[in-house]
Amino acid sequence: MQKKISIVVPCYNEAEALPILYRALMDITQKMTDYEFEFVLVNDGSTDDTLKTMRMLSQQDARVFYYSFSRNFGKEAGLLCGLKNATGDYVVTMDADMQDPPELLPQMAQILESGDYDNVASRRVTRKGEPKIRSFFARRFYKMMRKMTEIEIADGARDFRMMNRAMVDSIIALGEYNRFSKGIFAWVGYRTKWLEFENVQRSAGETKWNFWQLLRYSIDGMVNFSNAPIRISSVMGIIMTMVSFIAIIFEIIRALLYHDPVAGWPSLVCIITFIGGIQLFCMGIMGQYISKTYMEVKHRPHYIVGETNNEECEKNG
Ligand code: UDP
Ligand code: MG
Repeated sequence: MQKKISIVVPCYNEAEALPILYRALMDITQKMTDYEFEFVLVNDGSTDDTLKTMRMLSQQDARVFYYSFSRNFGKEAGLLCGLKNATGDYVVTMDADMQDPPELLPQMAQILESGDYDNVASRRVTRKGEPKIRSFFARRFYKMMRKMTEIEIADGARDFRMMNRAMVDSIIALGEYNRFSKGIFAWVGYRTKWLEFENVQRSAGETKWNFWQLLRYSIDGMVNFSNAPIRISSVMGIIMTMVSFIAIIFEIIRALLYHDPVAGWPSLVCIITFIGGIQLFCMGIMGQYISKTYMEVKHRPHYIVGETNNEECEKNG
């Protein structure tokens, strides 16, 4: 029997890029005659004509399924919806903007077919064409991530992957609300083959991320996969207590020797503000974990599907 490959594409305002991707996928998939294909397009609350484009594609091609969210739920929710609804033996996740080269698909399928690996991941070896400052912070982030968590996230790793059924099922089974795919892919384990490619510029449209969003995304990634930040706060607490203990002894000795209580005032203010700052910082770290826990216990769905051409799908996933 022919194996089926599902291609999952989360789209947010990709009306221009989507037809380009679809054509490129047609070119490649026609050559892969050993496989059947299915295209799972997720519209993440776009404000442009993305949904119209999806409707059109699904009318032309019965292998196209689309799921349109009731609002923007973020790329992670889009990926999850796509993975849940993909029925293929192999499932590919890729961006809509051609930054994930479809030419790699035959090679990916071949690697999985050999049976030596469960999934094929990809990473960019260059960040050509990307703002320097973004590359700099991205590198720092991956380095810190490696130090702080037990999971291995490669520098430049993309969400462009081909996975087998077993791995997809494991990923879907993780029901956490705060999803960080790069972490989840690594966390579930399985045998991973890495393919490398050069950075490609976006085909059309523009990036959906600004600096602050990326910063928030990195903090989320760390908090979701590491307890290191919360340990920092206890270590800092211990150090501060020791320092203040030494300071108290010092002050007592000084008061006894010099009888000059007012002279210590500026240093006292410094110490108070310093400790105050550290306390706020630590509370902020704890707040991050508490807010994550709060979101988890609410058990809200990750997304709500408002419109789809697959009426059997779960609307609140
Ligand atoms: N995306 C999404 N929801 C969002 C933001 C982005 O589904 O809220 C999709 C977007 O349409 C694209 C992919 O995620 O297919 C990657 O986004 P983008 O190309 O803007 O990120 P970059 O490549 O600049 O990191
Ligand atoms: Mg992109």
